[in-house]
Amino acid sequence: MTPPKFSDFAISPEVLKAIADLGFEQPTHIQAEAIPLLLSGQDLIGRAQTGTGKTAAFAIPLIEKIDPNVPAVQGLVLCPTRELVQQVAEEFRRLLKYRKDIQVQTIYGGAHIGEQLKGLKKKPQVVVATPGRLLDHIRRKSLNLSDIHTLILDEADEMLDMGFREDIDLIVAETPEERQTVLFSATMTQDILKLMKKYQRDAVKVDVTDEKRNTPGITQYVYKMKERQKPEALVRLLAMHDIKLAVVFCNTKMTVDSLVQFLKTSGYSADALHGDLTQKMREKVMGTFRAGGIRILVATDIAGRGIDVRNVEAVFNYDLPRDDEDYIHRIGRTGRAGASGLAFTFISPKEHHILRRI
Ligand code: AMP
Repeated sequence: MTPPKFSDFAISPEVLKAIADLGFEQPTHIQAEAIPLLLSGQDLIGRAQTGTGKTAAFAIPLIEKIDPNVPAVQGLVLCPTRELVQQVAEEFRRLLKYRKDIQVQTIYGGAHIGEQLKGLKKKPQVVVATPGRLLDHIRRKSLNLSDIHTLILDEADEMLDMGFREDIDLIVAETPEERQTVLFSATMTQDILKLMKKYQRDAVKVDVTDEKRNTPGITQYVYKMKERQKPEALVRLLAMHDIKLAVVFCNTKMTVDSLVQFLKTSGYSADALHGDLTQKMREKVMGTFRAGGIRILVATDIAGRGIDVRNVEAVFNYDLPRDDEDYIHRIGRTGRAGASGLAFTFISPKEHHILRRI
């Protein structure tokens, strides 16, 4: 069987051109499965992690279904964090490079509501949002969801974990019943299946997790060492592999801050990303990192959730993640969609049992 091409699907020439500009040569597995189903209006539940190309898998069909002449929100994407909201919106905008008649608006907490109100007045056809702030807008009547034909819940398991279930219920109640509902989740828990039963009709399941777990493009290394040996080991590995851009995940803000200090005194440009920073500061750090102004980004899991940076060569698990899924999320930041990457995991003697579980 010949592998599918983007041009095999009913995708408009403008979007095909943007896809080509992005350098996507062929659809990833989740894209090859989901795009035709979503274009046909099918409800879908996708089990796929970050790094599989899931964003474009739902964004491309949604773009094709938007009527640019209707000045109302037609597609809504809900995400657990503002970082993911920004990342998803960026992917939409890249795909919309030649479709300037479709506008995308982001909505998330921690940012000035005034800007968002101004954006909503321009009648965007697509909204990408975190549930809490979206509800604020619904209550203020600055946003109307009665023209939504496509609802996407991205990283649905994360949203449930973060306690957004009620908010999601309230938001879905504002959308028309005859909508297309798409659910993406890294795990298929009972709660996710309940969500599917409640909001979807005859949803088709697509699962690409096995593939991602084998992560063919990512070489994974594990190093056993004492806690106090970790900083030196990190610096040595950076030098040994000549790593230009890396993300280092730590479990606590304290570790993040002290490691950034250590890296700076060792001559590396490094900066921190954790929950204590204001939204503005986080955006600034991410922007500088994306632009190559910082080589090493040191982050906690919450802050690191939405990190999407091309060209990240290596991910370090400076501490072992407390949650198994976080491990996959973390290393999914490197070697994205087929490119190769390195993942280093440091474990101290007391973390041995956790590694066995992962
Ligand atoms: P995601 O899983 O949506 O977070 O996407 C992971 C990364 O892969 C993003 O940087 C995408 O822009 C990129 N990507 C998505 N689809 C493809 C593709 N078909 N070929 C190459 N890269 C892709």
